[in-house]
Amino acid sequence: MHTEPGDLVAALDIGGTKIAGALVDGRGRLLRRVRRATPADGDAAAVMAAVAAVLGELAAAAEWSGVRAVGIGSAGPVDASAGCVSPVNVPGWRDFPLVAEVTAASGGLPVVLVGDGVAMTAAEHWQGAARGHDNALCMVVSTGVGGGLVLGGRLHPGPTGNAGHIGHISVDLDGDRCACGGRGCVERIASGPNIARRALAEGWRPGADGDASAQAVAAAARAGDEAARASFARAARALAAGIAATATLVEVDVAVVGGGVAGAGEVLFGPLRACLREYAALSFAAGVRVVPARLGADAGLVGAAAAAAGELGLWGLPGNASGI
Ligand SMILES: [Zn+2]
Repeated sequence: MHTEPGDLVAALDIGGTKIAGALVDGRGRLLRRVRRATPADGDAAAVMAAVAAVLGELAAAAEWSGVRAVGIGSAGPVDASAGCVSPVNVPGWRDFPLVAEVTAASGGLPVVLVGDGVAMTAAEHWQGAARGHDNALCMVVSTGVGGGLVLGGRLHPGPTGNAGHIGHISVDLDGDRCACGGRGCVERIASGPNIARRALAEGWRPGADGDASAQAVAAAARAGDEAARASFARAARALAAGIAATATLVEVDVAVVGGGVAGAGEVLFGPLRACLREYAALSFAAGVRVVPARLGADAGLVGAAAAAAGELGLWGLPGNASGI
């Protein structure tokens, strides 16, 4: 594709609570932002109407004439090869043909779809903590645990756009059932709700404000609460086992950790680094470093744009390894 300096990508970040959109330029700047609540209880058409409204608002901007593509990062599972999504938290969409619908709603622009973990990875590789790393695992630790991979200098979405989904590899062989149907998954131990659940089960109690979130557990851990510290330490252990497995399989040299739970800081990163030394034992895996993500809440939009730009040859970004 012939590209110009003023080329833009319209980015969509679709989650269970909100649908965000932006026009993104070749330096990763968000020129316009739009946001709607996701009608998560609505039928397929109602959810798509919210997406179309976001696109319509972006299309009304003067800069729209510079838009060359649409990049979508969606809550998963996604199937980029079929252009469909089935987000767990949006029951109205099951095998919903999102790429075809967005293609029509955007007037026939090329559309690239990836999972939200892959989008965050594209953002961190382009502009954030994985910049300059040819082999990286990026992960979001939040209500769920997601992730993505950069291999050989390129985003590696996998055939369906889900590769690197570290939240659902098992690190506890006899562990609890996970919502995905598996057992002992990283997410079942290390997501925010599971950190809070375990802290409560071990005797931690919320303060007077009743806040029982992982953020409240982190504050208690910093203040020395043993049950709170133990729950974060166990989450760190699960994450470390997943990162070590990834480093051993595909030789990543950095693991970027973002999401709300990563905001706990050293309460998480301290034990995470210590456990990683224990699990990543072989010489070629032992050097993997853990660093916090840099892009924050905009990573989904920046990454959706980057994934599309890479796939379509915009902005000089390297193509995606999977050729989706
Ligand atoms: Zn799972």
